[in-house]
Amino acid sequence: MIGAGAVGAGTAWHLARQGHNVTLIDPSLDAPIQRSISRIQAINGTTASLGVLMGNVFRRSSGRAWRLRQRSMELWPQWVERLNHPDTPLQLDTPLIQLASSPLESERMQSLAKQRSELGLESFSAESTAFQQTSDPLPWPNPGHGGLLSQNDGRIDPLALQRALRRSLKTQQVCLIPARVTQLHRPNPGDGDRWRLELDTGHNTHCHFVVICTALASALLLQPLGHEFPMEAVLGQVLDLQVTAPAQSWDHWPAVLVCNGVNLIRHGSDRLWLGATLEPGEEPSAEEASIMRRLDGLAPNWLQQAEVVDQWHGLRARPSGRPAPLLEVLEPGLILASGHYRNGVLLTPATADWVGQQMMNTTKIQAP
Ligand SMILES: Cc1cc2nc3c(=O)[nH]c(=O)nc-3n(C[C@H](O)[C@H](O)[C@H](O)COP(=O)(O)OP(=O)(O)OC[C@H]3O[C@@H](n4cnc5c(N)ncnc54)[C@H](O)[C@@H]3O)c2cc1C
Repeated sequence: MIGAGAVGAGTAWHLARQGHNVTLIDPSLDAPIQRSISRIQAINGTTASLGVLMGNVFRRSSGRAWRLRQRSMELWPQWVERLNHPDTPLQLDTPLIQLASSPLESERMQSLAKQRSELGLESFSAESTAFQQTSDPLPWPNPGHGGLLSQNDGRIDPLALQRALRRSLKTQQVCLIPARVTQLHRPNPGDGDRWRLELDTGHNTHCHFVVICTALASALLLQPLGHEFPMEAVLGQVLDLQVTAPAQSWDHWPAVLVCNGVNLIRHGSDRLWLGATLEPGEEPSAEEASIMRRLDGLAPNWLQQAEVVDQWHGLRARPSGRPAPLLEVLEPGLILASGHYRNGVLLTPATADWVGQQMMNTTKIQAP
């Protein structure tokens, strides 16, 4: 496995549980999981992520993207149960509420709620009691068109997830190599008919299967082998805001509130994450962050007055000219599981499941 973000680490854990002999390679594997360098440079997608799981409120009801979301939403509770440990606690925070930004969107939400009531979706009107009054200390932004409550969507803390995965990988005896893969070489008899991976430490490692989970860096590894999978970087900024309100003011807040495509996530007793921007390229723009903060003019006073106590940005890997994610068996023993764009955390269990199935479908599996 190359790449130890959510997708690579999650897939390595899943494959190890299936009985495969797994090696995971990533230069970040000997570093602590934190956002400490975040202000200056982009961090890996998973560490930058907000971990929002929007599986059941997805617009479409068919096709690969819907099936992957449904599979992930089915697997997440099992994953959390297995990964949760007193040393690395992990939980799913629910529910998620999406506010409608127009009457048309409100209609769409009502019809989605009717079709998916068994998945825990309910729509509510602007007048309903679920909607907040402006006398609340922390009223929600109010587009005035009601919204959608999803009982089972929500959030997983991406740092807690990575810590839990790292602990479980060690328990499953996955070999962790803190190094960068610089080149892939196809199997040949001199290498025991196995793939040879050159590392930046000067060492080589050999394996029967290579699974590439390196997000934006995947294209670089694949190009020399003749596989073209260009991806573009889409930058996301997150603001960490301190609000002045008593702790119980959060009581009516869901785990995730989505307004105009921006997630508002309460954490701690008086903090709120606001994210994320969608910006082309790799340099964050101060203007984009302040547009996000205004929520298209809907930001209540308390939100506009909140102090920015931290911020970070990260890059999403968006496949060029193909739908995200890229899940492909490129040639015998070479699997690509990358390019998850905006939903890599959400789609981690479904991706791991897909990779596991590809490996089961092949006769080349070697006994550990
Ligand atoms: C601000 C922001 C908010 C987001 N919010 C959400 C959200 O709420 N929900 C959601 O589902 N998704 C969200 N995303 C998207 C999500 O973060 C990504 O889709 C996901 O993290 C991708 O995971 P990954 O494991 O593929 O990549 P990454 O987490 O980027 O990991 C790739 C890893 O590959 C390693 N690597 C690269 N090259 C090599 C090499 N040559 N050799 C070895 N290792 C290598 C890197 O060191 C890195 O650790 C967000 C993204 C951003 C930026």
